[in-house]
Amino acid sequence: MTKIDLKNFSLNELEQFLSGKGKERFRATQIFKWMYQFGALSFDEMTNLSKDLRAELQATAYISSMDHSAVEVGTDGTRKYLFTLEDGDSVESVLIPDEGRNTLCISTQVGCAMKCEFCLTGTFKFRRNLSTAEIINQICAVKREFEVRNIVFMGMGEPLQNLDNVIRSIEIMLEGNGLHLSNRRITVSTCGLVPEMAELGSRVTCNLAVSLNATTDELRDRMMPINRKYPLEELLRGCREFPLPSRRKLTFEYVMIGGVNDSLEDAKRLLKLTSDIPNKVNLIPFNEHDGCEFRSPTREAVDAFHKYLIDRHVTVITRDSRGGDISAACGQLKGKLEKNSLLPVDQGDA
Ligand code: SF4
Repeated sequence: MTKIDLKNFSLNELEQFLSGKGKERFRATQIFKWMYQFGALSFDEMTNLSKDLRAELQATAYISSMDHSAVEVGTDGTRKYLFTLEDGDSVESVLIPDEGRNTLCISTQVGCAMKCEFCLTGTFKFRRNLSTAEIINQICAVKREFEVRNIVFMGMGEPLQNLDNVIRSIEIMLEGNGLHLSNRRITVSTCGLVPEMAELGSRVTCNLAVSLNATTDELRDRMMPINRKYPLEELLRGCREFPLPSRRKLTFEYVMIGGVNDSLEDAKRLLKLTSDIPNKVNLIPFNEHDGCEFRSPTREAVDAFHKYLIDRHVTVITRDSRGGDISAACGQLKGKLEKNSLLPVDQGDA
């Protein structure tokens, strides 16, 4: 009989699973606490469950976990983890340290089908969605070593193409008996799947980041093929309607590419397009990578773009190149490992 991974259940679903076996529903809360607050990996550790229940669970279910198979540490403390999954595929997560408010960037798919032209992950063929357990275990693994306060779904993959597992993982993060994170500290990033944005907002409360990157449909069609399906007007309508946590602003991510989208004309159009949406802008100077013809913007272009928006009272953060020395842009660690045949440590003998 195939055993069931309890980390694929929300609390509600675990209650149903247990009541289907004739057990009290509150046992689900106890198990959740053991898994997510005490990091238990076996039923033997769950000392407030009867021996009989533990044996029954042992026979039908298990608790999965993941360990990183490689890690790169940047000079600024950014840690990039590579996780090898049960089927041999791999994904990555990045921990960005910040005095007690560490942020973990997690992946939701192996590869990505969205083919954004500037993105290294887009060059890896889409393989599959991650399960809820695989999403949540990236957090559990890092939490064994470091406190994690903020979660951003900005790693490998388009989260809204794996909507049910992303939503279930957010439910586990928000659950008081689970990872117990605040909805103000969870951000889902999308390239612009408008109907799924609406569904996400109707099922859970969290922050939203939209990877915008261009201010005309002509350019965005080229950079991000999803724009041909959901052009800017429709995307911005979806942004306006998204129900954010109270007093939160939507984030627009803007990857600045030299000579492509980094002029003051682009900054003006960006301001015009987004001025009626409470928002902040993350400017991300493009990191050049092999096989991509795009170039990094000049420092002057980034500063001028930043200043134009700041002077007009937009909240702007220009991401410093944190982790630049360890290939922190999404997909780059995996690319580097594959290119250099640097095998994950636990597969060195394979
Ligand atoms: S930017 Fe995001 S959505 Fe686009 S290809 Fe890369 S991972 Fe996929």
